[in-house]
Amino acid sequence: MLLEDKAGIIFGVANKRSIAYGCAQAASAAGAKVILTYQGERLADGVKKLADALPHEAIAVPCDVGSDEGIDACFEEVRKHFDHLDFAVHSIAYADRAELDGQFLETSRAGFARALEISSWSLAGLTQRIVPMMRDGGSIVTMSYMGAEKVVPHYNVMGPAKAALEASVRYLAYDLGPQNIRVNAISAGPVRTLAAAGIAGFNTMLDVMKERSPLKRNTNIAEVADATVFLLSDMSRGITGTTLHVDSGYNITSL
Ligand code: NAD
Repeated sequence: MLLEDKAGIIFGVANKRSIAYGCAQAASAAGAKVILTYQGERLADGVKKLADALPHEAIAVPCDVGSDEGIDACFEEVRKHFDHLDFAVHSIAYADRAELDGQFLETSRAGFARALEISSWSLAGLTQRIVPMMRDGGSIVTMSYMGAEKVVPHYNVMGPAKAALEASVRYLAYDLGPQNIRVNAISAGPVRTLAAAGIAGFNTMLDVMKERSPLKRNTNIAEVADATVFLLSDMSRGITGTTLHVDSGYNITSL
């Protein structure tokens, strides 16, 4: 199995439809023991049940990246259960709902700062705590979207946030390469999740992609999760700093 005997942490499970949970299912099926994180107590019971439903050893701990205290408390808990980490999946993003409608032009100072802090900086903030636990090298994967590269109506401030995320992946990959820690992003096609529900015109994104992508279908979470397991595993040992599109090939078109 691709992740046999590996230990990892998967940030950003809200419910069973979360991309993070799809990744957890695939990683667990590939033999890994995993820690799932959820943002706040409101989600605790649901995510603990989801952890129990996984085929290998799994637990759930809280992690709110909105403060250093929240991140430190999370890692205190993580260290009680795991003495090292082989991989991590960052699947966290946030923008005020008001920023995901209308034009990017209207983005507020506070809305921009918040979106970039939670969706982009958090990768570096979490990686700072992950690295001391990755003593034998490791692999980190984050979730991006094509709105980083091209204009997608209503994606607005999340576009610059994902662009900053993909650039962060390259800088972290450069910093951590000498420790054999790889950092990559997956640029996933649109998938119906809680986060996606906040984006105005999301159904149109799904329809356009189905019609115009080479594979003529929408992305499903299992496709994203399988590619994530590949990037977490030694099969991808020569790959770092890259953004892998898992989007039915939609990004190559100019239709
Ligand atoms: P989701 O709502 O299930 O996951 C988003 C997660 O971010 C939630 O678990 C939420 O609790 C967490 N989060 C938000 N603020 C946080 C904070 N302050 N601290 C800790 N966690 C916080 O939705 P999803 O679609 O699974 O999103 C996961 C990732 O995938 C995001 O980065 C998203 O941008 C990315 N992505 C989603 C799509 C899509 O179409 N759904 C496409 C490409 C990329």
